[in-house]
Formats: sequence, structure tokens, C-alpha cells
Amino acid sequence: MDPTKIILDENELPKKWYNILADFPTPLAPPLNPATQEPIDPNDLALIFPQALIKQEMSSERYINIPEEIRDVYRLWRPSPLYRAHRLEKLLDTPAKIYYKYEGVSPPGSHKTNTSIAQAYYNMKEGVERITTETGAGQWGSALSLACNYFDIECKVYMVRSSFEQKPYRKSLINLWGATVTPSPSPETQFGRKILEEMPDTSGSLGIAISEAIEDAALNDNTKYSLGSVLNHVMLHQTIIGLEAQEQLAQVEQYADIVIGCCGGGSNLAGISLPYIRDKLEGKHDTSVIAVEPSACPSLTKGKYEYDFGDMAEMTPLLKMYTLGHDFIPPAIHAGGLRYHGSAPIISRLLSDNLISAVAYHQVEVFEAAVAFTRSEGIVPAPESSHAIKCTMDEALKCKQSGEEKTILFNLSGHGHFDMSAYDRYFNNEMGDE
Ligand SMILES: *Cc1c(COP(=O)(O)O)cnc(C)c1O
Repeated sequence: MDPTKIILDENELPKKWYNILADFPTPLAPPLNPATQEPIDPNDLALIFPQALIKQEMSSERYINIPEEIRDVYRLWRPSPLYRAHRLEKLLDTPAKIYYKYEGVSPPGSHKTNTSIAQAYYNMKEGVERITTETGAGQWGSALSLACNYFDIECKVYMVRSSFEQKPYRKSLINLWGATVTPSPSPETQFGRKILEEMPDTSGSLGIAISEAIEDAALNDNTKYSLGSVLNHVMLHQTIIGLEAQEQLAQVEQYADIVIGCCGGGSNLAGISLPYIRDKLEGKHDTSVIAVEPSACPSLTKGKYEYDFGDMAEMTPLLKMYTLGHDFIPPAIHAGGLRYHGSAPIISRLLSDNLISAVAYHQVEVFEAAVAFTRSEGIVPAPESSHAIKCTMDEALKCKQSGEEKTILFNLSGHGHFDMSAYDRYFNNEMGDE
């Protein structure tokens, strides 16, 4: 039988990230200053981001070195394993080969550490003492707390209220790594107080929490802000996933025909797929890349491709992206990490250029897929990642009908160990489609 688990040696950990900005035939639409509608001056970003990350955000260098200090932390769990889903293939009775890259092996249990470690490192190098951020489901907040812990930076997390209530143990984890966390909207910022007055019962949203975290960073000395998805430098850091996966598949003489990732802000999808898009732009392989989102927050499948704010208080530059509007508050679905009104400019551009496609699924069918996966592969997937599983199963069933032996690769972006209340609701038939 072909191997079940394909692992790379620590020494094979990639030394560079891949920057797709170097390979777009025409430049990505730049972020605009909302006041002038002109491209932003990079110095405008210096209030909330360190210089090194601003430079990466705009860089056209094709490969960017991963500093040794970052690789040293990555080594704790990277290279992450690539699995062949033999049992899931059998369950589906498909001729397709299904592989998944498992990012749940990081201490907080998701891919988000790939960028949190890098961001905390560059902030530390520039003497930043405190970082603020938002978190949806709590994965990003815990990933950044771990990173700030390693680089001796204070960390303050604004956590979307619905998740703060649904996932109390994510808070504990954030505290355990030494950060503080408050439910958003909170009375601690001007914008939070305004929202609480207007909508006292709101479940919160990523857009609101981002506004609070930016306000805090902008008003406090030696405090910067950190974003866990959407921006170009975050997509860059995540490419380590796809670079490793390509090497692992090469070891078993495979190349992916289909690459699938769930899509909230777009970072884990970018991570697994951008090296494949690079090969596609070079005319080497014609891989299909599929972004999977929840029907309750369908920015790629139902949104408009236009300039919009990244946050609700209109504090960010305007980004060209598929968006549902910056005041859209999605229903409180269990895949909290997919509740963002927009999508990364890089992912949006790829969709608009037809280099990737997008599909949306409802919550209950996604949990059905998650349970089938858990019973065949053993790993409990995060509700976010389960969107990719559902799509993978559908693609594998298409192969069964057509008899095609395609190689499918999906990103299992995180585990669902903190999502047991969601699984309980599913088993008690208390879960609905929004
Ligand atoms: C945050 C998160 C996502 C969604 O964010 P992207 O930036 O789209 O990757 C998906 N899966 C997991 C496990 C997450 O923590």
C-alpha cells in the first residue's frame, strides 16, 4: 500500500517563502487612502505595522528568506505531516487519490502560527512592546499569544463575542500563553462603546473587533496591530504549507490535480495553493484550485469585487476584494474563522482572473462531512476546515462517476478540539442552516 503519512525531515524545512506578487502579469490593485482615493503612502501604515512587514506587503521579490529565529520556532511542529486519506477514499469508493496537509499539529492547533511567529518576530526586532489583535473563533488569538510569548511581547486580544461565549477554552489557552482577552464589542475602546450603545445584544463580528484592536494600537505608544489573514504578508508566510506539500507529494511521485482550502480571509487557502498557482502561471501544470466558504458568509460566491474597508469603523485603507460590505454581520455559525465580510486581495484577484474557483456550503452538510472524516481518518477537524473536507468528498465522488483517478490535495487547516459544543449541537439535531 502507498504510504499513509509522508513526513519531511527538520532539515528540509523551507528556507524561503514564495511571494506571488512577483508573478502577477499586472500589479495587484493597490490599497487606497479613503480620504484621497490615491494609493496609500507606506508611511501611513507605520503607525500600526512594523517596517519589515510593510516592506513584505509591497515586495516584488519572488522568494523571501525565512529568518533562522523563525525557523527555530517552526521546528517545534514543522514540517507538518501530509496524509493519504486511504480510509476516506475507501468510504467514498473513489478512484481519486486524496491527500491532506495537517496544520493542526501546531500548539494552538491551526495554520495561523505560520504567520503569528513571523509577525511577532519582526515586531520584536523593531522594539515593539505590545501587540493588539482581533480573533474570530479564537485560533488567531491563541496563535498570536504563543508567538508573543516566545518573543517577549505583551499581547491584547479582542475576541468576537459569539466565540467568546461559545468557546471558553480558547480564552483559557490565550491566558495560558500570557495574553489578555476581552469580548468584542468591549467598553474599552471608543468604537466598542459606540457599538454597545447602538446594538447592546450584538454577537459581534470580525469587522468590529478589528476596529477595536486598531484603535487601541493607534492610540497607545509602542503598540502595534497584527492581522491574522487577508494581507499580502500573511499570504506570503503561509506559503510554507504549499511548498512543503509539493515536496511531500514529489516523494510519492504525485502532483495535485485539484487543490482545496476553506476560505475566510484566505490565508490557509493561499498557503496551500499559491505554489501551485506559480506553476500554473509558468505553464507547467494545470491544477484546479477551489476556495470553499460558508453559505452564511459568501463573500467570493455572492460578494462584489470592489474597493471596501477591512473593518467596520472604516479605519483601514480601502482594499480591492470580493466583499459583502464592511457593515455585514454574518450569522453566528460555528465556523467562526470564516465569518469575515471580505477576502484577501490576492485571492480575490485570482478569482477574478479565473485562476481559482469558489463554492459555498451550508453548515449541516459540512458537519456531516466532518463526522464522516473523523470516523474514517480519526482526526477531529475544525468546523472551518470541514468546509474543505465537504468539497473534497464531492470532488472525489465526481471522480467516481467519471472514473478519473485524480490526485486531490486539501488543507486540513486545524483541529476541532475546542469545538465539541458545536459537534454536540449537531448530534442533538440542534444545528440549523442559516
Ligand atoms: C482562521 C482559520 C481559518 C480561516 O482563515 P483563513 O485566513 O481563510 O485561512 C480556517 N481554518 C482554521 C482552522 C482557522 O483557524
